[in-house]
Amino acid sequence: MNAFAYTRAADVATALREIAGDGAARFIAGGTNLIDLMKENVERPHRLIDISRLPLRLVEPTPDGGMRLGALASNTDVAYHPEIERRYPLLSQAILAGASPQLRNMASIGGNLMQRTRCAYFYDTATSCNKRAPGTGCSAVTGFNRYHAILGMSEHCIAVHPSDMCMALAALDAVVHVTGAGGDRAIPLTEFHRLPDDRPELDTNKRPDELITAVALPPEGFPQHHAYVKVRDRASYAFALVSVAAALRIDGGVIVEARLALGGVAHRPWRDRAAEASLRGERASRAAFERVAETLLRDARGFADNAFKIALAKRAIVRAFTQAAAR
Ligand code: SF4
Repeated sequence: MNAFAYTRAADVATALREIAGDGAARFIAGGTNLIDLMKENVERPHRLIDISRLPLRLVEPTPDGGMRLGALASNTDVAYHPEIERRYPLLSQAILAGASPQLRNMASIGGNLMQRTRCAYFYDTATSCNKRAPGTGCSAVTGFNRYHAILGMSEHCIAVHPSDMCMALAALDAVVHVTGAGGDRAIPLTEFHRLPDDRPELDTNKRPDELITAVALPPEGFPQHHAYVKVRDRASYAFALVSVAAALRIDGGVIVEARLALGGVAHRPWRDRAAEASLRGERASRAAFERVAETLLRDARGFADNAFKIALAKRAIVRAFTQAAAR
């Protein structure tokens, strides 16, 4: 690990001023991903700006009937918040499917959004990786790619986004609030993370000098019909091979609205609104769910070690929608 300077910001304005004047500095909150990356020399910031004491921890209702999650609220505090459990149980389930209790206690909501891929080559500085060192190549394309993307990848990077929480936020149409020198911005969660294209070093559409302040949940939380299905190599403390955040609104056995975000398959949570819309007016049935799964995976492509994910994702979608409908 390289030597680095450390400062603690007392307020948001100070944090923004410090990052604006130093392009090689990084914000740190829980540190559950960044410190690992620094130990491995993947990230080498020369200064850390500690934002963990900023007043961004509140989880509170919003005037429109939704909820606002402060960017520094811990994953644990959000998952077990009574209003989140009652009104947004899909989000609680997804958060609790990730990491370990100790990590969830430390990890912040903003940090969860910003966590980086777990591609093994990204962490191994002896290998080529366009995300870590742009222009060096992608070792995973011809290497071990069991955990990699089947949708939305490019020749430059086939990594996947690792978060469970973000799949639920994507399905719920959450909005990320950021602030920076250019003012405040609201970014839909589904547009917050990028596909790799020819710039895989960029994970998100947040600018480096912007600070995440909150995540806003709309009023509709699908408390009656929802499911988070996560398929992984071991029962706990593992990243998803495939995950599905599914939500339905059903009236008289007929689907009024369907939402689905796929995880473990792409560089960002994968939504397909046309496929979701095709379920409207359908009766909740295995046949309808199989049809939408086929549609969602129509452009999927596997590599040497991960082609199994295509069939796995289809089955996970059917299982998630079936569980959601049955609740
Ligand atoms: Fe790097 Fe992406 Fe290739 Fe992994 S998949 S080696 S993160 S460029």
